Amino acid sequence: MSLIELESVAKSWGDTTALQSLNLRIEPGTFCVLLGPSGCGKSTTLRIIAGLESASSGQVRIEGRDVTHLPPAQRGIAMVFQNYALFPHLTVADNIGFGLSVRGTPKAEAAERIDQTARLLGLAHLLDRRPAQLSGGQQQRLALGRALVAQARVCLMDEPLSNLDAQLRQEMRTELRELQQRLGLTVVYVTHDQTEAMSMADQVVLLHQGRVEQCAPPREVYAAP
Ligand code: ADP
Ligand code: ADP
Repeated sequence: MSLIELESVAKSWGDTTALQSLNLRIEPGTFCVLLGPSGCGKSTTLRIIAGLESASSGQVRIEGRDVTHLPPAQRGIAMVFQNYALFPHLTVADNIGFGLSVRGTPKAEAAERIDQTARLLGLAHLLDRRPAQLSGGQQQRLALGRALVAQARVCLMDEPLSNLDAQLRQEMRTELRELQQRLGLTVVYVTHDQTEAMSMADQVVLLHQGRVEQCAPPREVYAAP
């Protein structure tokens, strides 16, 4: 059984069709990259998996369970956004722990998990700082920490490295990939950058005008945009 399955998922807003009858299966523990030019439907696909948008028709399943009508919090998945969505007035520790406190996780357990996550991401010495006092790479890791602390099995990422300079982006690609493998995470990663897709993916899903044009390991993808 695939971990994530989209079956005949369509999405439109009025006359704008973002997705038309999209089928997709994502296997557990894989790094899956949604690739394609701007407007092809990558973000919409991700947001529908997350439950941030509802599909106009079709079905979304996670671990075989129909989640099409479930709210984001009940899907057991985490999401990292392009702009990081960090809270500027909160410390690194409180940014990491925000979701835990919202969910009412007991204080001691939350503190333990914040520590673990910070160590995992090399942020343990920065717990008292605020986001503005971090480097670009550290901010990016903090955004990841906020997603990982919830211990979701699936992590969705929408162009998470696009705000970094070229060198740092390269480093973070490697770092992200290592982390994903170490934790056995399933990642669905959106990018329009073909090099990034080819260097990171186990599976590349090439989208074109709201449909899956190809779905294959990087070395088998042909004529990508
Ligand atoms: P990508 O992530 O590949 O750039 P998107 O999924 O963001 O593509 O968008 C796919 C299409 O759907 C585009 O034509 C976009 O303008 C349209 N779209 C996305 N979100 C909305 C929305 N909230 N309202 C109307 N149209 C939207
Ligand atoms: P991304 O760069 O991740 O593809 P966009 O900049 O396309 O994101 O979209 C950012 C937000 O604006 C999303 O919530 C998306 O749904 C919405 N959006 C995108 N295109 C349109 C549109 N044509 N009309 C209204 N909202 C849109």
